[in-house]
Amino acid sequence: MTLTTRTEQGPLIEGATGKWEIVLGLEVHAQVLSQSKLFSGASTTFGAEPNSQVSLVDAAMPGMLPVINRYCVEQAVRTGLGLKAQINLTSVFDRKNYFYPDLPAGYQISQYKSPIVGEGEVIVDMPGGKSFTVGIERLHLEQDAGKSLHDQDPQRSFVDLNRAGVALMEIVSRPDLRSGEEAAAYVKKLRAILRYLGTCDGNMEEGSMRADVNVSVRKPGAPLGTRCEIKNVNSMRFIAQAVDYEARRQIGILEDGGTIHQETRLYDAKAGETRSMRSKEEAHDYRYFPDPDLLPLELAPAWVAGIKASLPELPDDKKARFISDYGLTLYDAGVLVAERESAAYFEAAARGRDAKLVANWVTGELFGALNKMGRDIANSPVPAEAIGELVGLISDQTISGKIAKDVFAIMLETGEQPGAIVEARGLRQVTDTSAIEKAIEAVIAANPAKVEEVKAKPKLMGWFVGQVMAQTQGRANPQAVNDLLKARLGIEG
Ligand code: MN
Repeated sequence: MTLTTRTEQGPLIEGATGKWEIVLGLEVHAQVLSQSKLFSGASTTFGAEPNSQVSLVDAAMPGMLPVINRYCVEQAVRTGLGLKAQINLTSVFDRKNYFYPDLPAGYQISQYKSPIVGEGEVIVDMPGGKSFTVGIERLHLEQDAGKSLHDQDPQRSFVDLNRAGVALMEIVSRPDLRSGEEAAAYVKKLRAILRYLGTCDGNMEEGSMRADVNVSVRKPGAPLGTRCEIKNVNSMRFIAQAVDYEARRQIGILEDGGTIHQETRLYDAKAGETRSMRSKEEAHDYRYFPDPDLLPLELAPAWVAGIKASLPELPDDKKARFISDYGLTLYDAGVLVAERESAAYFEAAARGRDAKLVANWVTGELFGALNKMGRDIANSPVPAEAIGELVGLISDQTISGKIAKDVFAIMLETGEQPGAIVEARGLRQVTDTSAIEKAIEAVIAANPAKVEEVKAKPKLMGWFVGQVMAQTQGRANPQAVNDLLKARLGIEG
């Protein structure tokens, strides 16, 4: 794959001296979904007692030797294949030397010159339906550090090494992004791909995915400006906010005749601003060198091919299939494939039903209800089969779409099946024309003045429809009511 830099211009920001363009790229650290760490057998379970998941290797005891976790390597390869990237059959682990209180070895084992995964791509989908491609520069495997705890004691800080040595995939994008909104959409798509692949749980609140955001600004068409890196931003909303704040900060400095210094900054979500942490180190400051405890990592082509053959269907392919096989709109298909669970839910519900109607119900009523309850689709109180059954009742005209909403509300509350609800509560649609005609005659007899009025003002039809629906407790077939009323009142069209 040969990557080309994105040339399309992004949204421009109006400054005091003219328009500016944001150019940014991201380094995403994604925790590998694996039961044990990258070079030790210690557990990776989140939320355990501090320092209860630390092997001698993680604690950097003298003489301990790292042993690579084969499953973590497999996960990195799987991720690379999911990003349509080059898999490097030989890669090398290096020591990245720096001091940090929660890094007992004094270096992080990472990959520098020879990462396990090379160039790939991610197709980013914007809310309006537009898509664009972001180049992936590389993906490398490395260890996470431990965690310093400063809020447990007024005088002392503590160190929890449970996270030390956990496998991370650092996924580096090209500077192909042009706004905070695009950056957030990129992370959203990347997260979806990793979750489909089962290589990272994507849980940003628990720190399973965090982004370092490299932001620069330039006048349209000018060469790249100096960038600042905002470290460890842990939500999509914060990423978008941090980018927009940082771009405005840089524009302000440049327009005042200042220069941007390359540095590392942090995003303070409460204050809504970025702040300087330290001047940016260069790669040579880390004194990278190949880790003498680890041999170069050699992958067998057949092993990689086996992983490739076992990849699941990914969001882009699934979206294309939902559009062609089910006739869904681009929008509905995009919403449904955003999470693997909602795509599976939809397919289960749509089996043998009107798929477009099912898509409407899932993305509309169901998602709305889940949102209100603060639940995700995996914990939906309404199973997929029940939504399918409900849509079936609309399709065969047992109930109207309007009554279906009432049935759905009862399903949410009681967990009853839609068919049973309709029978027990007598909600079957009245399609029998003589019953509807009877209701129409009753309404006409009670409102002679309105009957005169509607002849001059056909808009009043709606009022009559409402009255007839009320007479039938909302159960009359709306189309039949409309047709019969028009004929009876002598209204055209
Ligand atoms: Mn890193």
